[in-house]
Amino acid sequence: MGFQRIILVHYHEIGLKGHNRATFEKRLQKNLEVLLGAYPVVTIHRIAGRLVVFLKEGTDHAMAVACADAIVGVPGVARVSCGFKGERSMGALGAMACAALAEAGPFESFKVAARRNHTDFPIDSMQMNRDVGAVLCAAFPDRRVQMKGPDVTVGVEVVQNAAYVYARSVRGIGGLPVGSSGKVMALLSSGIDSPVALWRMARRGAVPVGVHFSGRPQTSDASEFLVDDIARVLERTGCIGRVYVVPLGDHQREISLDAPPSLRIILYRRLMFRVAERLAEAEGARALVTGESLGQVASQTIENLCATQAAVSMPVFRPLIGTDKLEIIEQAQALGTFELSSQDAPDCCTLFMPRSPETHAKVAAVEAAEAPFPIEQWVGELAEAAEARDYACPGYKPPRGRKG
Ligand code: ATP
Ligand code: MG
Repeated sequence: MGFQRIILVHYHEIGLKGHNRATFEKRLQKNLEVLLGAYPVVTIHRIAGRLVVFLKEGTDHAMAVACADAIVGVPGVARVSCGFKGERSMGALGAMACAALAEAGPFESFKVAARRNHTDFPIDSMQMNRDVGAVLCAAFPDRRVQMKGPDVTVGVEVVQNAAYVYARSVRGIGGLPVGSSGKVMALLSSGIDSPVALWRMARRGAVPVGVHFSGRPQTSDASEFLVDDIARVLERTGCIGRVYVVPLGDHQREISLDAPPSLRIILYRRLMFRVAERLAEAEGARALVTGESLGQVASQTIENLCATQAAVSMPVFRPLIGTDKLEIIEQAQALGTFELSSQDAPDCCTLFMPRSPETHAKVAAVEAAEAPFPIEQWVGELAEAAEARDYACPGYKPPRGRKG
């Protein structure tokens, strides 16, 4: 009795109706097709509320698990199960269940959880549970059935004309497929917070484009390399489309020579926001994203957040505004960016820092301090000087007339 090795990808169906749902499914399917390029995948099909990843004949369990691990972190994925597809006969169900359970790793107890999608299959789920359970009890005589909290649950799903059986099932990251919610421009430092903020927007389906301000030519380009490393981590799950690198050092120096020291940081930040907004307009992105968290540092008081926000008219999303540093760190660790972000690299933020920055900036005072500088001209120059680097992100479309 032949059956094929597959990976079943489940997603939450809540809130997905009609046209919305087909768009969501196609987006996720496309994203997985590209992201799994390095794995032995034959094809990915959509069947009634799930995606089925078909693996090449001869693919072993370890490779299937590696492939499943590459899927769990992809936004839009609620659950990933490794198993088999075969015909919907009780004989095939029993054989697939034995094969799946044999690969499940060490376990003492198990149960069967069957469901059928169409009632045209004559055997109901209770009966399937009993029948498949009986086959497994015979094949694994020294293991016991346990209904509450078993070590392994053998999933059996009869969908349309086929049956899917799996024993290894892992929760996914959830959210929406990248590319289903438009584009955002995320200010990306090489610090801990901003990659997490960017990723949170990606998990809600936005396509993030990053912009990094380096201190070049006043500092080395070390932070640019770190940001590239961070972007490559985000790229694994298709969470970043492109990064612009903008050398801000010379302009910061100009500000530091003439602006009141206490307001410098705010002026640097307003300049960063303006350049980000300019690049966002060219990209067709509709909002800026930062990793700011209320009160975390002197520059993140409500007054200062308002004073920087006032420089732009585009909305600024701050997904971390109400989070604690520890929560952010945990998320960065789970994401795989923490180690990189913990490395020291001077970027524009470490340049020309004043000794006592203003913590309650007033917009009028900030505007007065900014007045002597040719801001409009600078924004144009800096946006022009931005260097783009592209990453694998199926939902990302570059703007016309500007190649990476
Ligand atoms: P992070 O950990 O993200 O660097 P932070 O705690 O160091 O944040 P700030 O330096 O005040 O805090 O930066 C706040 C936000 O401003 C960052 O999360 C990021 O979105 C943006 N930002 C700061 N520095 C840069 C930079 N060099 N390039 C691009 N964006 C930056
Ligand atoms: Mg920082």
